[in-house]
Amino acid sequence: MDAADTVRVRFAPSPTGLLHVGGLRTALFNWLFARHCGGRFILRIEDTDRKRYDPRALPDLLESLRWLGLDWDEGPEVGGDYGPYFQSQRIHLYQEYARQLVESGAAYYCFCAPERQGADDARPESRRGAATGYDRRCRWIDPHLAAERVAIGEAAVIRLKMPLEGHTTFHDLIRGDITVENSTQDDVVLLKSDGYPTYHLANVVDDHLMRISHILRADEWIATAPRHVQLYKAFGWQMPAIAHLPVVLDPSGKGKMSKRKKIAPDGRALPVHVRDFREAGYLPEAMFNYLALIGWRYDAHTELMTRQEIIERFTIERINPTAAAFDYQKLDYFNGVYIRQLSVDDLTDRLLPFVQRKGWQVEHETLRRIVPLIQERIERLDQVTEWVDFFFVEQLPDYDAQLLIPKQADAAATRHRLQRAREVLAQVEPFTHDAIEHALRTLAGQLGVKTGQLFQPVRVAVCARTVAPPLFGSLEVLGRERVLQRIDQALAKLSGASQQAAQ
Ligand code: GLU
Repeated sequence: MDAADTVRVRFAPSPTGLLHVGGLRTALFNWLFARHCGGRFILRIEDTDRKRYDPRALPDLLESLRWLGLDWDEGPEVGGDYGPYFQSQRIHLYQEYARQLVESGAAYYCFCAPERQGADDARPESRRGAATGYDRRCRWIDPHLAAERVAIGEAAVIRLKMPLEGHTTFHDLIRGDITVENSTQDDVVLLKSDGYPTYHLANVVDDHLMRISHILRADEWIATAPRHVQLYKAFGWQMPAIAHLPVVLDPSGKGKMSKRKKIAPDGRALPVHVRDFREAGYLPEAMFNYLALIGWRYDAHTELMTRQEIIERFTIERINPTAAAFDYQKLDYFNGVYIRQLSVDDLTDRLLPFVQRKGWQVEHETLRRIVPLIQERIERLDQVTEWVDFFFVEQLPDYDAQLLIPKQADAAATRHRLQRAREVLAQVEPFTHDAIEHALRTLAGQLGVKTGQLFQPVRVAVCARTVAPPLFGSLEVLGRERVLQRIDQALAKLSGASQQAAQ
């Protein structure tokens, strides 16, 4: 058998909210492993927890995976030989398998009130520590008696009989052998009294029926592995190979990356959901490369890699077991690199929605002329608006007239320079980058001032600030009429400023 037949991995999210960046990293590692091996990547929706079901989750999930380019070979919308791929459509299977375990003596009915049972909630956050404390009272009920009670309609859950002594060992592909004492494990609930399976049962049954070969899952699930080992044993099935991926930590490196947004020093909300990364203007190419490096590395220095290179180099041996912090600055840097690699047309297409969502009327062609002016200057697509606003607003925002005045000059000298610039710009033909540059440099020479001493007032007059995209290209795109009009406004401002100074 070749790898294409043997490697089958899955991403198995529960649709309980918007996809978190940590979840996307888990999906990416599974996808990379499948693509590296020529295996199959399966998407399975673990939607049996009806209380936590969020209808926004599935569309968000599919969109997020597609955005990153993680195509699935089997799953929602694509089908496959091992479906259905929604656990809510497989409930009868779990019921059957749970009953089978009761019949074989590996599981038992438990009639205890929920308070006595301890939490049957599989979420890792509600399972800190070892056992939930259920005292196994029903484990000792005669199975025939228990079956009769169920037959007459008494509510019951089904629990797995964990061995009471000895230990359970499993091999984690990243962490090596892990052993736990069975006495620390409880008799986990497999099927709830409403007939719905818990995570443990549904996950194990499906991994088996879907012929999953490798489980790569978040390391928060590590504590559940010994129960799953026992569950596979109870069924007499071979357990897939398993690896627990290192957790994604907060930028501070102190705790797990939370689902709440954080605020950056500059006041912007830092994204944590994939959708928010998309909306902030991170490119999927940069995200793909950056996320691949959270817990995996090729060698000590190679970081920027193409998608194809990462696929070729991705092996489980190179995954690091220790947790890794999410570094927004590094992601921004990566994003800037990938932005600079885009063609002008491609970047224009991607920037257009960001500019349009400001409500500005922007033609693709106009933006296309601006893009080369800012391509080097942005690290996220959403930053475009700060750089290009002056191209699209009718009226510049009010600015301080002092910004027009270079150091070592006063309002009168600045007025003079701007007046001369206006004359030159009214005449220059054609009104293009090179001709404008030549005309303004010549003027600076004639005025006997350094170029900056002339360019600053012109820049502020047309952009309303001192830091802006390159001047000559900006003037060309703005067009003569608007440039002259803005210089007139600046001159009027300076008259006000010199009058104030004279008083
Ligand atoms: N449904 C689980 C989750 O959302 C799947 C965990 C696993 O991969 O086994 O995390």
